[in-house]
Amino acid sequence: MLRRVLAGVPAGEEPLTHVAELPERAARVVPWPEWTPDPVRAAFTACGVREPWSHQVEAAEHAHAGRSVVIATGTASGKSLAYQLPVLTALTGDTRATALYLSPTKALGADQLRSVSALDLPGVRAASFDGDTPTAERDWVRAHARWVFTNPDMLHRGILPAHGRWSMFFRRLRYVVVDECHSYRGVFGSHVALLLRRLRRVCRRYGADPVFVLASATVSNPAASATRLSGVDCAAVADDGSPRGARTVALWEPPLLDDVAGENGAPVRRSAGAESARILADLVIEGARTLAFVRSRLGAELTSLGAKRILAEVDADLPDRVAAYRAGFLPEERRALEAALADGRLLGVASTNALELGVDIAGLDAVVVAGYPGTLASFWQQAGRAGRAGDGSLVVFVARDDPLDTYLVHHPTAVLDKPVEATVTDPGNPYVLAPQLACAAAELPLTADCLPDFGGEQARAVLDDLVAEGTLRKRPTGWYWTQRERPHGLVDIRGSGGDQIAVVEADSGRMLGTVNPGNACATVHPGAIYLHQGSSYVVDELDLESGLAMVHPETPEWTTTPRELVDITILDTVSETVHPALGGGEVRVCLGEVAVTSQVVAYLRKLPSGEVLDQIPLDLPENTLHTRAVWYTVTEDLVTGKGLDRAGLKRSEVPGALHAAEHAAIGLLPLFATCDRWDIGGVSTALHPDTEQPTVFVHDGHPGGAGFADRGHAALIPWLTATRKAIAACECPEGCPSCVQSPKCGNGNDPLNKKGAIAVLTAVLNTIRD
Ligand SMILES: [Zn+2]
Ligand SMILES: [Zn+2]
Repeated sequence: MLRRVLAGVPAGEEPLTHVAELPERAARVVPWPEWTPDPVRAAFTACGVREPWSHQVEAAEHAHAGRSVVIATGTASGKSLAYQLPVLTALTGDTRATALYLSPTKALGADQLRSVSALDLPGVRAASFDGDTPTAERDWVRAHARWVFTNPDMLHRGILPAHGRWSMFFRRLRYVVVDECHSYRGVFGSHVALLLRRLRRVCRRYGADPVFVLASATVSNPAASATRLSGVDCAAVADDGSPRGARTVALWEPPLLDDVAGENGAPVRRSAGAESARILADLVIEGARTLAFVRSRLGAELTSLGAKRILAEVDADLPDRVAAYRAGFLPEERRALEAALADGRLLGVASTNALELGVDIAGLDAVVVAGYPGTLASFWQQAGRAGRAGDGSLVVFVARDDPLDTYLVHHPTAVLDKPVEATVTDPGNPYVLAPQLACAAAELPLTADCLPDFGGEQARAVLDDLVAEGTLRKRPTGWYWTQRERPHGLVDIRGSGGDQIAVVEADSGRMLGTVNPGNACATVHPGAIYLHQGSSYVVDELDLESGLAMVHPETPEWTTTPRELVDITILDTVSETVHPALGGGEVRVCLGEVAVTSQVVAYLRKLPSGEVLDQIPLDLPENTLHTRAVWYTVTEDLVTGKGLDRAGLKRSEVPGALHAAEHAAIGLLPLFATCDRWDIGGVSTALHPDTEQPTVFVHDGHPGGAGFADRGHAALIPWLTATRKAIAACECPEGCPSCVQSPKCGNGNDPLNKKGAIAVLTAVLNTIRD
């Protein structure tokens, strides 16, 4: 297959940077555990599972013995059975026992409920309880359902605040299943971690101590991540016993184009979407069932269209065998697509990440990953859709115009041999802890005994603040919520709090969605393109006072990118390490709390080719964010001096060098901190007023921080090493989007000095390594 794809590459282009052959893995099946009730075994057998795989039984044994456990294995390794087996054993063995299932998306929850219902075991009474459950059905679920399928949002807003109405359910609760738990990261992950502590507290109130069963993609150190998320000690099962066909993984870098110029005349590469459309078309011609993952909904549509256009020239019937898939599809539409791809009526599908969750497609001939999906866990989950037992399959990773992607295609070991990153959560973030403690107190008064579970002294300090501001009342027996209205409705567990900005279609008055107030200036400024369920809108007006963004439907040929000016002030230095340099001077590495002031001042309009049309100024207010940052300072002679471990730059080159080093560092941090580059930001300056030195900052984009800066600080040397290598690996002469240009730079990517950045990073690394 790879040969066929390479045959389609135009002469003179050499996009392939690496090819790896991953060997086949045979299945390891084991007998059903002795404790498996006959009806449960019979039900699984009837659904096609004759014998379970080793990891499924290993996890089920832990859970059955009352030990909380996380199962962290690949896509299509049957993690569902690992929790269904102990849960169904409990529910059929004790006709009063109950269980709770949590998934990050409604679609996944609906699929899992369907698969349990298909087992058709009498008396299990599995039911969903989410935003779509009609009011009339809710009473029935509370009173009679024994396995409730819900999501963190509903647990937070609908179930825990009304725990009294669920008392029977909680009293008998034996298992809590947390599916796809690796998706709980950043601020959302911190909220979910505290939400699970609230759940355990409510269970204790009713005398229950449920066993937690978590399911995760393969991650490094799953036990530690699961323990941090759930608050209970978890055993880990990671030895995957499912079979896997041999796979070829190809790393692919689209060529620099001669005839298109980007910002400041920089060269641009052919877009990952256009390149993937061509690869997809070649594979479809070959008859290979192929899934292409594209980062955005618009991108998925364009990739599918691009492939159809190429195929139309080959055979008039082929375009109909390619489709686009996105979030928001109805269950019937998803089933139809699964079936068409399974039996080969469809050969090619371009999809957003929506397919990562809740669609049952595996065993394909090929997968094209257009752009790094943000985490290695996601990458392997997408790649895992390819692989038929016995037959070889192909995975092509196509790099986007981005320093992280550049680094990955030139450093195959970072993709192929690295353990998948642990998820980052920070339940101690006061911006998360305060509202969560308020919710907890409103559910049941908080006592001193509860505090260790919520962070101990940190929780006590936050509670003192809540008492001082009048949110809670302290009595001798604990902390009480004494207000009429419960706080839950005001706490947005997926965002960073605050009143959301509503996006409204001006003509119809229809509300399309909401955006975070902190991001509103960057995402729904006048002229911005707003995508909603595959349709495109243009923002006419942003009214921050009334919390409204007015839009109209329009599909322009360009995309928009905001431009921000950013300033940073150090509020508190939490950690500081001084590294003296050979021959004088030093590098300081710090972690601390900062105030970031930003202002969106303009936006760029760009064509899909990467060509920049123009930059349009905006007049929007400043926004201040209190968060955490990691930063390093270098003494000036280290930057401008010549000789050992000195960068040897001219004074005029310093701002561009630091700026370029900052951009690339932001691009590479997601490799170490499971964040998106849009979750973080940076500032660099040849003289910062607080440090009085040349300084590079990288900060979290969420109030209070989400743990990303802390992770960057902990991984500083590998992070800056990767940053330096990514810049050095790019073959552009003076800097381009693949290395040091940033799509969200407030200074129009000027000045940038690519060679200077390599020199500064080399000097810094040589100093801090010693
Ligand atoms: Zn470059
Ligand atoms: Zn910049």
